[in-house]
Amino acid sequence: MTRFLFFAAILIVFPTHSQQLKSPSEFLGYELGTEFTRHHEVVDYYEYLAEAAPDRVKLTVYGQTNERRPLLLAYVSSPDNIANLETIRQEHLMSTQGNGNSTKAIVWLSYNVHGNESVSTEASMKTIYELLTTKGSYLENTVVIMDPCVNPDGRDRYSNWYNQYKNTPHQVDPNSKEHNEGWWNGRSNHYMFDLNRDWAWLTQVESQQRIKMFNDWLPHVHVDFHEQGVDNPYYFAPAAEPYHEVITNFQRDFQVILGKNHAKYFDANGWFYFTKEVFDLFYPSYGDTFPIYNGSIGMTYEQGGSGRAGLGIITGIGDTLTLKDRIAHHFTTGLSTVEVSSQNAKKLNEEFKKFYQNQNFKYKSYVLKGNKDNLDALKSLLEKHEIQFGDLSSGSYKGHAYGSGSNGSMSVDKNGMVVSTNQPKGTLVQVLFEPSAKLTDSLTYDITAWSLPYAYGLEAIASTSLVTPQSNGDAVSKSMINPNSYAYLTDWNSLKDAKFLAELLKEGIRVRKTDHPFSIDGKSFERGTLIITKGDNTHDPNFVQKLQSIADTFQKEIVSTGTGFVDSGKDFGSSYVQMITEPKIAVLSGGPTSTLRFGEIWHFFEQQLHYPLTVIDDEYAKRVDLGKYNILILPDGRYGNYFDEDQLSELKDWVRKGGKIIAMGGAINAIDGEKGFGIKVKEKEKETEQINTPLPYEDAEREQIKDAITGAIFKTKVDNTHPLAYGYGLDYFTLKLGSSSYDYLDGGNAVYIEDSTKPFSGFAGSKAQKKISKSLVYGSEQFGKGHVIYMVDNPLFRGFWENGKLFFANALFMIN
Ligand SMILES: [Zn+2]
Repeated sequence: MTRFLFFAAILIVFPTHSQQLKSPSEFLGYELGTEFTRHHEVVDYYEYLAEAAPDRVKLTVYGQTNERRPLLLAYVSSPDNIANLETIRQEHLMSTQGNGNSTKAIVWLSYNVHGNESVSTEASMKTIYELLTTKGSYLENTVVIMDPCVNPDGRDRYSNWYNQYKNTPHQVDPNSKEHNEGWWNGRSNHYMFDLNRDWAWLTQVESQQRIKMFNDWLPHVHVDFHEQGVDNPYYFAPAAEPYHEVITNFQRDFQVILGKNHAKYFDANGWFYFTKEVFDLFYPSYGDTFPIYNGSIGMTYEQGGSGRAGLGIITGIGDTLTLKDRIAHHFTTGLSTVEVSSQNAKKLNEEFKKFYQNQNFKYKSYVLKGNKDNLDALKSLLEKHEIQFGDLSSGSYKGHAYGSGSNGSMSVDKNGMVVSTNQPKGTLVQVLFEPSAKLTDSLTYDITAWSLPYAYGLEAIASTSLVTPQSNGDAVSKSMINPNSYAYLTDWNSLKDAKFLAELLKEGIRVRKTDHPFSIDGKSFERGTLIITKGDNTHDPNFVQKLQSIADTFQKEIVSTGTGFVDSGKDFGSSYVQMITEPKIAVLSGGPTSTLRFGEIWHFFEQQLHYPLTVIDDEYAKRVDLGKYNILILPDGRYGNYFDEDQLSELKDWVRKGGKIIAMGGAINAIDGEKGFGIKVKEKEKETEQINTPLPYEDAEREQIKDAITGAIFKTKVDNTHPLAYGYGLDYFTLKLGSSSYDYLDGGNAVYIEDSTKPFSGFAGSKAQKKISKSLVYGSEQFGKGHVIYMVDNPLFRGFWENGKLFFANALFMIN
């Protein structure tokens, strides 16, 4: 009865809206689930709702994708709440300071982060429509923030592809083309990055723009809608172990409350589902964990389907799975999430406040020092996360020393910084900075180590006492170039330096580099120092102005010198001071390469280094004249015997004449010892363990993990006299993603693992640890006039291992 009165009241106050609001099917002109809706049509529908029901829907364009599609957020709530949205937001954020009396539940629903998991955006339209029509009661105390499509470029790539290849009517036989997307699939964004691995690293424009909105709201509940394989039933919370230890009991328990509510609806419909398996809560860069480390109940929901499912497909057990089914399931969990959140708004607010009051951190401060460019890069990431930090200019600090993996001390004289956990984002600080995250179960979905001091190549101490920042007084001084100098010198030790060099080369400025340390005018310079002489650049009358302007852009300090006669080392006219060859780069895509690994290279060139590359697809690669290029990059992938004998001998000829191959990960197998070049796969360690008791069948998965390295950090040795390692110190922390290993090269080992192979952070199985002992990480081999550069580990992995990027730049610019 009360329920009847409630709805009656709504109808009286807002007689027009519910009656006139068009459903997605009415608006789009086809029944939802019978077509894939293109992104612009989705935008149209959301815009229509915001116009038709402005008192309950507020739409914001928060950014744009690489392919210029708009990124949208729709705020959906009661008229009262929409009218007071900014007040509600501010009141809610006061909870992070322990203040305020916030009462509204904030629920954020993110759809279609993986573009070809394409049901999500369709389901979002049904969900918003029902919230506005039949489920208005949830919105009295709840603000629902909907991102209808986190990855519009990927989703349209899938939808357009599907529309081009689908049968009419659609064919449910999985062998038909419409179910087999191929290499350039819609999962990732424009640059083939997985946006559901990017929440913490923010390498992609979608993530960078979204994080601002996310930090503006810090929702109580965040759902990331996904799809898994066609034969899987639905997955929803609670998640699988391992859980990161910072996850609170409430965050655990509330997932169960939500899961049980979803189960009620699924049970009533006879739908299948599973919980507590596969999808764990550890790696911080997901759409479930990242919100959790920011105080939310973060969850992943997985429908069976994805890019293979199309409008309908026969499953392994002979059922037909349709897009309509998939919409019904995501729609159900979406509404059920809002329902439970609305019922528990009070509790959510209390617990959210408590989360931000947590001061129970083992380490109170992380003290860092090192290369200023790397520190700046880290600061820029922290700013995006609204994590506070301060400078340090002196002092000695004790605690866990990252370099040794044990207790120690570190003194700071300049270029120091401190990040402490006594701030609203303290939990996130712990997760991102702690030397090693506690792993309760080694069977996990993703990498097990990411600690930022290692990723940014900084010396660091984790201190159990609070360290107060000091003012650094380190103002950036603009360095004025003396126009009458003989040469201009600048150091080489960061990605920023590589960007600077790339810009000089693009501007036609000729640059040399030194292969020997030298000193001049009382200053000393390391290997890799860039030497820009006037004599090399007489072709350009504006040379000095150009150099000055590029140096200003990159805030590069330039030392001018009036002579090429050094105090020690090699003079600038020496053969040890060589001209840097302008790279003409070709990268292989498609075929044997991995889309993600290719994408990392593509993104590195265009969005980080800002240097052009030619993408050569597998389909026609064998017809391309390599003579036009001097660098060929073979991204990681599954090559097998990709190159036949003729192609290998052509490749060798090209290298002999001066070409340079950069072979990454699995690409090394395509050209290794047996097939062409000098590198050799490490002989498999002899099985020393005698099997005494046969292993129970159910333990097979756990036994296999002994061979695995699930993304762990290892300390390696560096030969920084090797051009591949210019700008580095004598050791380097590498992120190892697997146990593939190669013997040391006869010469040219730039980075390698010695005997001690326990990871400093993350998981590595016992057999895998043995296997990578005495193995190559980065090295090069001279072959005729050319070189082959081997990258066993991936310095560009997900774009976040900042300190590895200089190896890649060295491979491009320093080896010749
Ligand atoms: Zn997914």
